[in-house]
Amino acid sequence: MKVVIIGAGVAGLAIGWKLALGGAKVVVLERAQVGNGATLVSGGMLAAAAELGSAGSPEADFARRANALWPEFAAALEAQSGIAIGYRRNGALLLRMAGEAPRAEEPLSGDHSPLTAEAARALEPLLGEDLADAVFAPGEAQVDSQALCRALAVCFVQAGGEVRATETAVRFELTGGRMTGVTTPFTTHRADIFIMAAGAWSARIEGLPPEAVPKIVPVKGEIIVLSPPAGVSVPMHVVWGNGVYIVPRRQRVLVGATMELAGFDTSLTKTALTWLRRQAEGLMPALKDWRLSEHWAGLRPAAPDGLPILGQSSVDGLFVASGQYRNGILFAPAVADVLSRLVLERIAVDPAFDPRRFEGTTSALIVPQTPHKEGGNGAWSAAS
Ligand SMILES: Cc1cc2nc3c(=O)[nH]c(=O)nc-3n(C[C@H](O)[C@H](O)[C@H](O)COP(=O)(O)OP(=O)(O)OC[C@H]3O[C@@H](n4cnc5c(N)ncnc54)[C@H](O)[C@@H]3O)c2cc1C
Repeated sequence: MKVVIIGAGVAGLAIGWKLALGGAKVVVLERAQVGNGATLVSGGMLAAAAELGSAGSPEADFARRANALWPEFAAALEAQSGIAIGYRRNGALLLRMAGEAPRAEEPLSGDHSPLTAEAARALEPLLGEDLADAVFAPGEAQVDSQALCRALAVCFVQAGGEVRATETAVRFELTGGRMTGVTTPFTTHRADIFIMAAGAWSARIEGLPPEAVPKIVPVKGEIIVLSPPAGVSVPMHVVWGNGVYIVPRRQRVLVGATMELAGFDTSLTKTALTWLRRQAEGLMPALKDWRLSEHWAGLRPAAPDGLPILGQSSVDGLFVASGQYRNGILFAPAVADVLSRLVLERIAVDPAFDPRRFEGTTSALIVPQTPHKEGGNGAWSAAS
């Protein structure tokens, strides 16, 4: 079976690797370089609890399934690529700041423990005084998403896959209603199966009937990287609070992230930088002495209902793996698992994620935006 995947982000590469291991002949088309999209700038948190809580929902179930797959996925990637991907299950602290309303009480999941402010500070001495209490979620993990993509590309190629970088998929070709090719500036690729894994750009390739165009909207996120003064250690855990998260990665911390509907704009803004720094310093006052070493922006792929879009499209031969929104790194092993089973074994994906669920609807995307812009109020905004 020949498969063409569009997009060499975490989704396209993870699916490609699984399919190649399963015996398919796989080509990944990438308009720029491997891991060039949202994956490049991601916080790399595997934050099933912080993002989706302990309630039962198709997405939370999918997140837990992905979380369970991660240890084996990470070990196989590191062993086969020889690249350390920084996978660590150190847990996360979910903080409530002084003056904030008590958490809307969803029961704590079994392994989560409530902590006093003092106990939280004992775990993370950089935390400031302005803290009411915290929850420790020990199952939360993290990975270096840039190293992850490099490792995935190596494993994919070792398994027989081919990455064609700087080759943009421009137009799909249909014959008798079935997907038969995708045209790039260089050639037309023919295959049995095509998988759209082009992240926030998944709706931009020409040639599809309107009902088959994935309903994906880009949600911009800016994130900054801070380096400590000499002799100062980075935190041990991922920390959430004050509207931001702080992620230790190697000898630095990532502070993220803004949320904004800004089309395909990925410019870096002073307002986001100032807001991220201010919120992070509210959590850990000592960060005011840390040096800004990088500032990134990227586009999360979001569906109107905020759920992933995974599975068969309304065009025969075209599958979609998009809409991972804020959790595409966490979801990666599960996305690879369900898409490869669907393609190789015809095992159905959860209907909640079916790409065809929006047909005939005009639903708008509802996105909570961060109040990082002057005058912004963090309200929810809708985009059609
Ligand atoms: C600031 C920020 C922080 C985040 N933090 C986290 C986090 O901590 N944990 C988490 O789980 N998720 C996080 N996310 C979300 C996560 O990064 C995304 O959900 C995930 O990376 C999506 O992966 P993808 O492979 O679908 O898309 P991308 O990584 O965007 O990859 C899509 C690829 O397709 C390519 N492409 C596009 N169009 C074409 C075309 N026509 N032809 C060929 N190639 C094309 C692009 O160049 C790109 O390389 C974050 C996102 C942002 C922006």
